[in-house]
Amino acid sequence: MPEGDALRVTAERLDAALAGHVLTRAELRWPSAAAANLVGATVLGTAAYGKHLLTRFDDGRTLHTHLRMEGRWRVDRTGSRGAAARSPAIRAVLATRHWTCTGWQLGMLDLLATRDEPRVLAGLGPDVLADDFAPDAPGSRLSDGVGRLVRDPGRPLCDALLDQRTVAGLGTIWMAESLFARRLHPWAPTGSLDEEAAAFLLLTARELMWRSIRVARRAGLGAVETGVHGHLGRPCRRCRTPIAVGTANEPPFERPVFWCPTCQAAPS
Ligand SMILES: [Zn+2]
Repeated sequence: MPEGDALRVTAERLDAALAGHVLTRAELRWPSAAAANLVGATVLGTAAYGKHLLTRFDDGRTLHTHLRMEGRWRVDRTGSRGAAARSPAIRAVLATRHWTCTGWQLGMLDLLATRDEPRVLAGLGPDVLADDFAPDAPGSRLSDGVGRLVRDPGRPLCDALLDQRTVAGLGTIWMAESLFARRLHPWAPTGSLDEEAAAFLLLTARELMWRSIRVARRAGLGAVETGVHGHLGRPCRRCRTPIAVGTANEPPFERPVFWCPTCQAAPS
């Protein structure tokens, strides 16, 4: 599932293609939005919040999309074969004279008034990648994130980090990578962290994800190297112990957790 870093990069790519330009073609292949007409609207820009994308238009409307498991946006030159957008997997087409953006296998699509955006984001924690999550930002939301992380002190760290109500944007990759970087046992209770350690963990996630964004800008998504995620059975880069995989969350919402049984041993 694409995480906050992938969503940021996707928003940047959509902005490069669409922002400031008038839509010459727009199709929302989604039952509740199929009748909407966006042709003639100017695209103001696309913002990412956690795993959500908000594409704003100058007529006061916002297209809200979520990639869920398999979704992605593709950009093709208008008039090229890819821009024909014939695949039944395409759920949205937004095109200008020059570029055609197609949303594939989107998990959610909703056209709403821009002023109603807070309704869509209600319940989500602060966006771990946002400017206002930095510790030195005015009105920083870091302490809000810390409070949400340790709210249920008996909850495993891996479960709390995956919960978008804690902070928005983390998925299985950056949950596992952050815990590995901080040498934390994934199933240690959140209450085992003091406030400073909790803040350090969230800022580590932020830093790793921003690094991933910088790598993706040069080399494409998925180019960043991970320490544990996807490394099952391979030696840990710190201690050579084979990387293991466990489970976060209760059924039916289980997610894989890659971890090093030595570096991230359970607290005694
Ligand atoms: Zn290790």
